Amino acid sequence: MSGEPQDDCLFCKIVAGHVPATIVRETDTTVAFRDINPQAPTHVLVIPKTHYKDAATLATAEPALAADVLREAKAVADEDKLESYRIVFNTGAGAGQTVFHAHAHVLGGRGMQWPPG
Ligand code: IMP
Repeated sequence: MSGEPQDDCLFCKIVAGHVPATIVRETDTTVAFRDINPQAPTHVLVIPKTHYKDAATLATAEPALAADVLREAKAVADEDKLESYRIVFNTGAGAGQTVFHAHAHVLGGRGMQWPPG
């Protein structure tokens, strides 16, 4: 658990403006920016401005902030006029998480398979 900015966290650096990002939305509590390695025509990451290592930790510590992230994920999908889309929270290295600052992937604009790889 945290909530405090972490010096070694890439996404905390994006929040602080120390690393550039293509920001598509920002609120008092969240930032949404385009993924640097997009896996779909729309691939946006929505993050809380405060640092939690993953979505479950965020939801436990600050459920209202987790709801902000989800609300912004929907806003991203609405802005890109996505009729259907996928929201993904990779949690843990074994599930593909590589940046340990909670984030929602918003993916859309192409067909999706199930189960995911
Ligand atoms: P994860 O694998 O679920 O942790 O997702 C991390 C995501 O961050 C990956 O999809 C990366 O492509 C993306 N990413 C890494 N560095 C940057 C960056 O500097 N800007 C935007 N996206 C990034």
